Amino acid sequence: MASNIQPRFLDFTSAHAVSESFGTPIYVYDQKALQANATAVLAFPNAFGLTARYAMKASPNAAILKIFAKAGLHIDASSGHEVHRAMAAGIAADKISLSTQELPADLGDLLAAGIHFNACSLAQLERFGQLKPGGQVGIRINPGAGSGGNNRTNVGGPSSSFGIWHESIPQIKEVLAQYDLTAVRIHTHIGSGSDPDVWLKVSKMNFDIVRQFPDVVTLNLGGGFKVGRMPDEKSTDLQVVGQPVKEKFEEFAAETGRQIRLEIEPGTFLVANACALLSKVQDVVSTGASGYNFIKLNTGMTELLRPSIYGAQHPISLLQASEAAATKDYVVVGHCCESGDILTPAPGDPELLATRSLPAAAIGDYCVIDGSGAYASAMTPKHYNSYPEAAEVMLDADGAPKLIRRRQKLEDIWANEV
Ligand SMILES: *Cc1c(COP(=O)(O)O)cnc(C)c1O
Repeated sequence: MASNIQPRFLDFTSAHAVSESFGTPIYVYDQKALQANATAVLAFPNAFGLTARYAMKASPNAAILKIFAKAGLHIDASSGHEVHRAMAAGIAADKISLSTQELPADLGDLLAAGIHFNACSLAQLERFGQLKPGGQVGIRINPGAGSGGNNRTNVGGPSSSFGIWHESIPQIKEVLAQYDLTAVRIHTHIGSGSDPDVWLKVSKMNFDIVRQFPDVVTLNLGGGFKVGRMPDEKSTDLQVVGQPVKEKFEEFAAETGRQIRLEIEPGTFLVANACALLSKVQDVVSTGASGYNFIKLNTGMTELLRPSIYGAQHPISLLQASEAAATKDYVVVGHCCESGDILTPAPGDPELLATRSLPAAAIGDYCVIDGSGAYASAMTPKHYNSYPEAAEVMLDADGAPKLIRRRQKLEDIWANEV
């Protein structure tokens, strides 16, 4: 591992400025990177039109939703609460699509407001039929194959509960007929990754399903575009994975006369590398000659859980007023009294420790953990050990940090106890 990777958009001066104004730990988003990612997504190759949605569960702060909405992205919501959150941020209901594991109690109201809905189980389809007989609906299918990075991120295949199993198409048709519903959209999000062959395979499988629903006008292929966070990892080239997909849409049109619109809904791709988690070294300890050198940060699983649960790798850099000449191998850990609070697990194995070569660390050094935009702030065991929720800032077009979420006050943690 190369020592001290240069952070993507922070250096000592800007990190120091953010820390002095807003404190640490803090998530630092980069508006320019968010906008560039939106532009790349909206340029996804397509034959008969594209709707690109931001899967907001990746990072749902209103400031981010607004930047993406302004760029022309629509929203994919994973719960009724996310629908409300997006509407509170000013997103029009007809730009929001809901695909959820748990139906909201107010689904009828949300449908009346104009959101789009993908039924993710037969029971959900039935409920939709009762609420909106004669309505237009999307169907989320589990096509029987997935390709996520590991079994926790694999969202297709027999061990995944997402979507209606592909062998249940006769039952889907029964419910459609019973409530006079029209299936206008087929949806599959299986976490297809960055391999163009997988995207081609997925679009093929999906067209076999579209063929069985004559009123479908839109095919949603989900998200799951892989992003390289570490310097040696590659990110998905959307132009490359999209080209064979586009050709498949053209082939289908030539064969059937049906010009199907494409929808995609990335989360990770849009935000992963557009945010860094800024923290400080608060202790440095050693467990002797046959042990490890540890850096303890004033952050950890309370802000970034992915390393602890997936063994995910994030670039870690120390920023010092003048960089130490010597380097050392360190295990970097978080601030929770929890042996799993580790920021340098072995790749893909959260049970094992790995080390990073970093400049000799001192208490008070800044530490930047890059690639912390997706499923970071959005997905934390917040309040564990009673650490208040961290603040979030956005570097605007001129690089000036603007607060987009205040640091929680300690008392906020128990404010709703009775
Ligand atoms: C989470 C999710 C996405 C986004 O997945 P990424 O891997 O972050 O791109 C898209 N669609 C649905 C239905 C999802 O649940």
